[in-house]
Amino acid sequence: MSHSEFLPMQLDFWHPDSAPRIVTQMEVDFHVSAEQSISVQTLLEQNKLQYEILFHNLQEEIENQFDGKRNFTGRHSYTKYNDWDKIAAWTARTAKRYPKLVSRIRIGSTFEKRPMYLLKVGKEYGRKKAIFMDCGIHAREWISPAFCQWFVKQATGTYGKDKIMTRLLDNMNFYVLPVFNIDGYVWSWTQDRMWRKNRSNNFNSTCIGTDLNRNFNAAWGNFASDDPCDETYYGSAPESEDETKAVATFIRNNLSSIKAYLTIHAYSQMLMFPYGYTFHKAPNHDELTEVAKAAVDALSSLYGTKYEYGASSAIIYPTSGGSDDWAYDEGIKYPFVFELRDKGRYGFLLPESKIKPTCKETMLAIKSIANYILGL
Ligand SMILES: [Zn+2]
Repeated sequence: MSHSEFLPMQLDFWHPDSAPRIVTQMEVDFHVSAEQSISVQTLLEQNKLQYEILFHNLQEEIENQFDGKRNFTGRHSYTKYNDWDKIAAWTARTAKRYPKLVSRIRIGSTFEKRPMYLLKVGKEYGRKKAIFMDCGIHAREWISPAFCQWFVKQATGTYGKDKIMTRLLDNMNFYVLPVFNIDGYVWSWTQDRMWRKNRSNNFNSTCIGTDLNRNFNAAWGNFASDDPCDETYYGSAPESEDETKAVATFIRNNLSSIKAYLTIHAYSQMLMFPYGYTFHKAPNHDELTEVAKAAVDALSSLYGTKYEYGASSAIIYPTSGGSDDWAYDEGIKYPFVFELRDKGRYGFLLPESKIKPTCKETMLAIKSIANYILGL
């Protein structure tokens, strides 16, 4: 076989999220088409690279992720993956059901003109502190929107019962964006389960979409792809995307109250903080390390799930245009990136039966961080 046969090969990187982020000794997860799998295996063997095939049949595994209790009504469920229509209806229902605790805010529209709904959870007035949390910036990371929904359920359901949650909601607001990249999320349900970017058109290219987590104005373009066909394409300009613009504008308008920025991804079980775009330590690096350690300890206390934590450029290769670095440079001193379960066994296809334990343990980490913010 000649080497050139391998050249047109397109690998879909799962972890890390692009080829430039691969460093020596790293375990790499990727997805190739059935037609290419034999030549990829040959190439790996020729180069003496150890490998293991996790999914022989991805389609089968996609179906297997729906292993939750059968749901005859087809209604919204916190222990199942919900499509966008169900989540949108749920935002309206939740705000209606808890009028004193939850309100729904429309912060903008997506490229395909879907309304972007944010839930404000907390007592209405006079609050100086807030935490912003978004889920689903990358479409295929389905456990992430599931967590944002779980958070709102726990917050509303335990207010007045759980001491810590009651104190948190009495004294600060949470802004929860359950799905950041709605168009991409819809696409991952209807067309391509492995879709990551948003769904906007690109000038002079037939390839669709921008990686919204490379599109923020933080060292924009330094460590990301300028090729619209890449999974980590940074877009035509900082905040060129409607979704990025909507989130950035909302946060800028509420900078006086937002003390922490939390962004939920999957997978790899990591808790990271700035910087991502430089190896320089953030001014409050030691404090961020302590807060992250406490959060990870709280998370592990439930089922022993192990998380790595640290500055993202130190844990993985540098990236630019990330929302956490941007939030930090805007003056939000406590930005954290969660990479939820698992470590690659199921990857993006985490079965529904894992939603509950994943959300329960993550809740402990979020409460730990929020409690720290409250005490400042
Ligand atoms: Zn992600």
